[in-house]
Amino acid sequence: MDRVVYFDNAATKKLSKVALDAMMPYLTEEYGNPSAVYAVGRNAKKAVEGARKTIAEAIGALPEEIFFTGGGTESDNWAIKSATELKKGKGRHIITSKIEHAAVHNTLEHLEASGYEVTYLDVDKYGQISLDELRSAIRSDTILITVMAANNEIGTILPVSEIGKTAKEKGVLFHTDAVQAVGSIQVNVKEMNVDLLSLSGHKLGGAKGVGALYVKKGLRLPPFLHGGGQERGGRSGTENVAGIVSVAAALGDIVPRLPLDRVTRMRDRLIAGLLEIPRSHLTGDPENRLPGVASFIFEAIEGESMLLMLDQCGISASSGSACTSGSLDPSHVLLAAGYPHEIAHGSLRLSLGEDNTDEDIDYVLEKLPGIIARLRSMSPLWNEAGE
Ligand code: PLP
Repeated sequence: MDRVVYFDNAATKKLSKVALDAMMPYLTEEYGNPSAVYAVGRNAKKAVEGARKTIAEAIGALPEEIFFTGGGTESDNWAIKSATELKKGKGRHIITSKIEHAAVHNTLEHLEASGYEVTYLDVDKYGQISLDELRSAIRSDTILITVMAANNEIGTILPVSEIGKTAKEKGVLFHTDAVQAVGSIQVNVKEMNVDLLSLSGHKLGGAKGVGALYVKKGLRLPPFLHGGGQERGGRSGTENVAGIVSVAAALGDIVPRLPLDRVTRMRDRLIAGLLEIPRSHLTGDPENRLPGVASFIFEAIEGESMLLMLDQCGISASSGSACTSGSLDPSHVLLAAGYPHEIAHGSLRLSLGEDNTDEDIDYVLEKLPGIIARLRSMSPLWNEAGE
């Protein structure tokens, strides 16, 4: 193996050095329980409250609007399930998009099974929803709009501020899954007009298994976990002090460097280089896309084989096709964006972070065209005559 290159930063990021340094004391000598009255407990409490303030500032919120959770999935679950409680008297209709992460999608499917009605907004070939379609989907019994800020597979950034404005005008709660957006692009909860926003630590250089939910002042969510009353009664359980501190440190560190110009330049070089491969397509919005996400479809390629061959070259990447759990269905995101089944299987996402270098880009540009040519030479689907 010539080198090892990590191009799966949208799946998870390496814990940043700043985050590791910040969390270390809380894994060692500052081990107190934040609920305790003695000094080591008070130190832990102070760290949690400091982290809350840092995270709030990074997204334009107030500290009391931040609730720590066990990650993005939990934040999404809490936000969506809360809306059903908060708006109990209003109705049972929810609006979302066809490209949400499973944390949102499967939560909504669960609610559908208990009588909620969900409208799934179509997206165009770039993964963008239509605001007109959104407006006409809103009904008198609509309780919640939940649309992601940026898509994890194709990197499309959605028009959250406009969606939020519409939701506000119509008096509907608005939640956004901003797990891929926070720490990658500027996020401001006030400009976005959101009521609820999910973020996750490990997508921005913090620890895994910790996240936060922004809850607009004035909204009082029902508790997600019952117990000792931590997180102002909303999410009981002893706080993951070190994890929480790591998220704040990572976010506080990265926000002043946004937009990530160097990452964007590397991404664009990667896109330009890989689009030279015959019958390749950039997926997602060419303009409004996350700085770190380069996503493609290569026709007549089976995504999993491509990933295995990349792995043999030391390149970690991911494919949109959900071949896990024995299913061979291609990604719901690519199907929603209108790509036919046959070609949606050949998807590849290379997601970059600040640790990547120009040499990493050179390496992928050197290796991937050969891998694709080799796979195509073995593929009955590949028809040179089509060139
Ligand atoms: N939402 C989006 C858009 C994601 O990309 C992810 C992670 O893959 C999640 C939610 C889930 O976050 P977590 O891994 O913190 O539960």
